[in-house]
Amino acid sequence: MRTSRQDLGDWGEERVAKSCSCPNCKRNNTLKLLPPNFKCADIICDFCGYLTQVKTSKVSDISRLPKSLLGGAWAPQRERMESGRSP
Ligand SMILES: [Zn+2]
Repeated sequence: MRTSRQDLGDWGEERVAKSCSCPNCKRNNTLKLLPPNFKCADIICDFCGYLTQVKTSKVSDISRLPKSLLGGAWAPQRERMESGRSP
């Protein structure tokens, strides 16, 4: 059963995919969401194949992401992390 919190997380991932440029190749609109059952990453860059995880629980990973992503999706992510829900 899905919770509103999960929906919020998905919204964050979608927003990242649509509004952020790839951290690796810096292209816009190349990030695609991976299927929910894809364990090790949430988003892939269509152009360069860069994999990234939005709902990561590691702060060190977050710090590698661009500022635009932090502004767009950090709040829902942090809420998920604080809820103690493991990926
Ligand atoms: Zn890329």
